Amino acid sequence: MIKINENYLKLASSYLFAEIGRRVAAFQEQNPQKEIIRLGIGDVTRPLTKACVDAFRKAVDEMGETNGFRGYGPEQGYGFLREQIAKNDYQARGADIGAGEIFISDGAKCDSGNFQELFAQDIIVAVPDPVYPVYVDTNVMAGRTGGAAGGRYEGLVYLEGTPQNGFVPEPPKEHVDLIYLCFPNNPTGSVATKDQLKAWVDYARAEKALILFDAAYEAFISDPDIPRSIYEIPGARDVAVEFRSFSKTAGFTGTRCAFAVVPASCMVYDGSGKAHSLKDLWNRRHTTKFNGVSYPVQRAAEAAYLGDGPAQIRSTVDYYMANAKLIKEKMSSLGYTCTGGVNAPYIWIECRGDSWKFFDMLLNAAGVVCTPGAGFGKCGEGFIRISAFNSRENVEKALERIEKAVKKT
Ligand code: PLP
Repeated sequence: MIKINENYLKLASSYLFAEIGRRVAAFQEQNPQKEIIRLGIGDVTRPLTKACVDAFRKAVDEMGETNGFRGYGPEQGYGFLREQIAKNDYQARGADIGAGEIFISDGAKCDSGNFQELFAQDIIVAVPDPVYPVYVDTNVMAGRTGGAAGGRYEGLVYLEGTPQNGFVPEPPKEHVDLIYLCFPNNPTGSVATKDQLKAWVDYARAEKALILFDAAYEAFISDPDIPRSIYEIPGARDVAVEFRSFSKTAGFTGTRCAFAVVPASCMVYDGSGKAHSLKDLWNRRHTTKFNGVSYPVQRAAEAAYLGDGPAQIRSTVDYYMANAKLIKEKMSSLGYTCTGGVNAPYIWIECRGDSWKFFDMLLNAAGVVCTPGAGFGKCGEGFIRISAFNSRENVEKALERIEKAVKKT
């Protein structure tokens, strides 16, 4: 008899976006004429920039020529892309990261989900609440938690993000081994200052813990004082892995390219306390289970750093951030307290009550889809997330409808 991994049975069954889809479909069926505007999803809407498309095409052509054809590439990624990343994303900002410490992948979702495989079953895991669900669910699947009760899994340490701490939790008083952090944050749009990240790096060094830092939204940071990478904090090289992605930065959600940074100085320990290189372990896992991102996609990602690429990408990011500004200004003018939307494409809005009820009100009265905060964890209740990933026209129309709907209630 083939038996299942019963940890999968612990996973909360109603996945947030499936439930949103169900409610939207039911509304559409009852109101077939009504045009729905989706400000709920975290997917980008603008096309790939010209620089990336040109590089992508050129590389596809190369693949069709005898001299240009490439078969399996290096699992860790081609040197041309790893070098651009190390130079532009890290060394240019004073962070001491080399090309050999970068592992190209097909997504920050996969990397942030897969990384926990390297660690023992009995480690203590700390996750933010509210949170991008992948960190929690992959630890549940791996059997590091008990069952779910009251929206939380037994055995995890939850780092609460609240209005009081500006949605930037402090290190816990107790010991933990593995810490997930995400800044700019999905869903709250909050960012961490250098001092706040330093507290986490100091904690991890003192506790011999490891930070998994998800920086998928770093391109949206405009404040020069906010760190874009955890490696801008002295000492982070020894205790932190960073995940980044071209998904939101360069519109690669459908093209797929991302990377993990695993510094050579990062050590992890076996049962006897002996230190091992985390980079070597990840390299072993990556080369065993992953066969690399395709050559044309890596060339397209490289173009994000060359010639007109950076300016074109900047203009797409600016477009979304202008949407974010409109959303934040309108919701604030309607009396809602908002976080995010300045250095992040998400606006986290206190809806003063049940977040699914507010979701239903916006859907029914305005035909606008948001994301109820309750879907991101217990601390997300009482909030909704609105995303800036849409056309200006749709955002303006949605905000007009929201204003009318809210004024009626
Ligand atoms: N990390 C965070 C915090 C996200 O919000 C998302 C996507 O929404 C991802 C990672 C996924 O990135 P990728 O498309 O590279 O898998």
